[in-house]
Amino acid sequence: MIGRLSHVSALSRYLLVKRGKQLAFLSPDLLLFVSLFILFVCVLTFNRITHTHKVYLAFHFIMMLWPLGQFAVGMTGYPEYQTAFVKLSFAALSLLGPGWLAFVFFLTGRAGQLNRRKAVLYMIPALICVALVMWNPSHLFMSPLGGGYFNREYGPLFWVLVITQFIYFFVALLIMFHALKTVQSPNQRKQLAITVIGIFVLTGFTVLDILINVLLAPWLPIIPGLMSLGILLSDCCFVVAIYRFGIFDLLSMAQRDIFEHMTMGIIVVDENGKVLEMNHGALPFVKTAKGESFEMEKFLAPLQTQGEVYEFLYRYRHHPQDRMQTEITLPENSHHVAIQISPVLDDRRTLLGRVITFHDVTELRKLVDEMNRKNEALHERNLELITIQEELFRVNQKLEQMAITDGLTGCYNRRYLMQQLEHEVLLNMRYRIPFTIFLFDIDHFKQINDRYGHLVGDEVIRSTADIVRTKLRRTDILARYGGEEFTVYLPHTNLEQAELLADRIMNAINENLVTVGPEQVHVTISMGIVSEDSEELAFDDPKGFLRELFARVDAALYKAKNEGRNRVVLAH
Ligand code: GH3
Ligand code: MG
Ligand code: MG
Repeated sequence: MIGRLSHVSALSRYLLVKRGKQLAFLSPDLLLFVSLFILFVCVLTFNRITHTHKVYLAFHFIMMLWPLGQFAVGMTGYPEYQTAFVKLSFAALSLLGPGWLAFVFFLTGRAGQLNRRKAVLYMIPALICVALVMWNPSHLFMSPLGGGYFNREYGPLFWVLVITQFIYFFVALLIMFHALKTVQSPNQRKQLAITVIGIFVLTGFTVLDILINVLLAPWLPIIPGLMSLGILLSDCCFVVAIYRFGIFDLLSMAQRDIFEHMTMGIIVVDENGKVLEMNHGALPFVKTAKGESFEMEKFLAPLQTQGEVYEFLYRYRHHPQDRMQTEITLPENSHHVAIQISPVLDDRRTLLGRVITFHDVTELRKLVDEMNRKNEALHERNLELITIQEELFRVNQKLEQMAITDGLTGCYNRRYLMQQLEHEVLLNMRYRIPFTIFLFDIDHFKQINDRYGHLVGDEVIRSTADIVRTKLRRTDILARYGGEEFTVYLPHTNLEQAELLADRIMNAINENLVTVGPEQVHVTISMGIVSEDSEELAFDDPKGFLRELFARVDAALYKAKNEGRNRVVLAH
């Protein structure tokens, strides 16, 4: 900032004299501009460009304009050009503040807070400054000295610009300090600390420039390039911060890395299908290059566009806002590929583009198929087991039945009867239930055997049992007691009822003729009856009680035989 220049320093005067000649290129502003430019190129070349970098580079570019303008103004004697270059410098200076602020917002990870409205609000003071610089109403910003703008006098609007810039720097500093307090990572804290130093260096040199070259200009020699030097030094701080603690946009870098190194293929297309971005994983699937159009129809053309794929294609064409997926088998290598399409929509649900992913699921499919096969085999095995289990159940039931029944007559066997009776007599005693037991034996059965043979004997036994069974209730138990001897247990039956039933049985057997070939066999039975009305029944040992009971009924049967057979005898 060269202010009211009444006398010029020796170096500046020398440079002025040599203006237009080769040595004039040694102007400190030019050297600083070149340094800044080299830095600019370095940052651009050696850094991965993220959003923060972009903001930084824009900011850096604005910073470069100051020394360029300062240098250029000394290179021409025409006041029109001089005023243009000075205005360029000051316009750049005006934008330095908001540039700073934006850079700080990005650096401290607060870019998300910077919406469009806020950004415009932050820009307004700077734009007013630019307007004031460009307009320079009534030379209120600056007026020429000595017929040109190389030497100039600053008016009140210049101070408006200076104060505005200081306010910007102050706000930026506040944000930085706040970030320094809240940031957790030591690396990020160092990065912020160095940037704060950069701000102080720049502010310090600006103050120095204003002080020496503007306020104290009448008394002190002019020192050119102070501000430019400040810009360069502070910029060095920023570059160190970027390189040494290169954590600009760590998240976006990580996202980029993940995107690049994912095995899943990803392409991003715009609403017309033009490929905007694709990762390495997409190369085996997509032959389209970035900037070209990806056509799903062509991609799916080698496949049979029927059924599911046809429907997928239809939805891809006609419902671009839908999320959709399908699985295809590539004809060239039989690989299974899952394709998923996710729309990218804006706030108003307008389609901006689509993200298409390709995932080779061959291994997965193989595993699933294998698992399905195993499941099917398991299912079949299960069915077989169920059949075997059912068979076993049936056999068991049969065995159980066989264990308690007699094979020839189908009646219960003696063992089962005795088991049941042990339980029944206890119940009968407890609830005072009357019951009766019959014991009967076929008369002269040996003769039947002898006359007709054992098979006929068997048939006679079976037939006799059948006849008796027809006369019984479902709750009565008919059991083969041994040989051609049977027992009937009749619960809830007193003597009176028992005698009636015994008569009916005797009659039925008497009327029964067993047909054996041309002959008919007739038998009679002898029966002993024991009946308990249970009123006085009392015992501790059911087995002993039953033994005694059967001895009594057996005696009655024996008596019936002795008294001439074909009769019923009551036990005592
Ligand atoms: P009683 O009038 O005194 O009873 O004369 P009985 O000839 O019937 O004499 P007993 O009851 O002692 O004879 C039973 C006979 O029954 C003896 C045996 O050979 C025959 N027997 C036993 N079990 C069977 C069988 O399952 N089938 C055949 N066919 N005969 C049997
Ligand atoms: Mg007999
Ligand atoms: Mg017998």
